[in-house]
Amino acid sequence: MRLIFIGPPGAGKGTQAKVVCNYFNLQHISSGDLLREAIASSSPEGEKAKQFIEKGLLVPDEIVVKIVAERIRKIKGFVLDGFPRTLTQAEFLDRTLDSLSISLDRVFNFTVSLSKVIERLSGRRICSNCNAIYHIKNIPPRKEGICDRCGGRLVQREDDKEETVRKRLKVYQKISQPLIEYYKKKGVLVNVDGNMEVQELFERIKESLRRYDTH
Ligand SMILES: [Zn+2]
Repeated sequence: MRLIFIGPPGAGKGTQAKVVCNYFNLQHISSGDLLREAIASSSPEGEKAKQFIEKGLLVPDEIVVKIVAERIRKIKGFVLDGFPRTLTQAEFLDRTLDSLSISLDRVFNFTVSLSKVIERLSGRRICSNCNAIYHIKNIPPRKEGICDRCGGRLVQREDDKEETVRKRLKVYQKISQPLIEYYKKKGVLVNVDGNMEVQELFERIKESLRRYDTH
């Protein structure tokens, strides 16, 4: 089974991807992780990506798609988490899948309210020393502002500040609209409510995938 999860930051895609992969025995592919791995392994595409990142530029779609394609070539079932991000990436991806004679089963579009995203992201704290992630409500550290693991100081990332979150969401809405339309036309799009709690949402996703469920 091949799935794509699209949605704004804070919509719960990553958490849901882990649960779904675990249940259906799929591989969780986050393009961010793949990019970091490619760079660390100094693969040819990784080397190219690194040059853009070092200049503070976005890695071009074609390179990102090649890195993702390299991985999906080798596995049977996957959840692509947060990829494709743009219509161009989606078209590149389709060509790659066609050349491998494989097709997508579903694209889950996570929608979420602004207030929920702000609640989830603006409560996030990260250890300035070991990068452990906390949440002031959901995963609080034992001692306020201090990392349980290493005693480092917890900070809020610039990306998670309320004003930045609002801006990121606006940008997301704009670039994702053509992507959503594209998958809708292909007949594979399923809208899901990212405001739901993890288990409740998982039940919905499972329901829409029941013909693949062999449990
Ligand atoms: Zn720490």
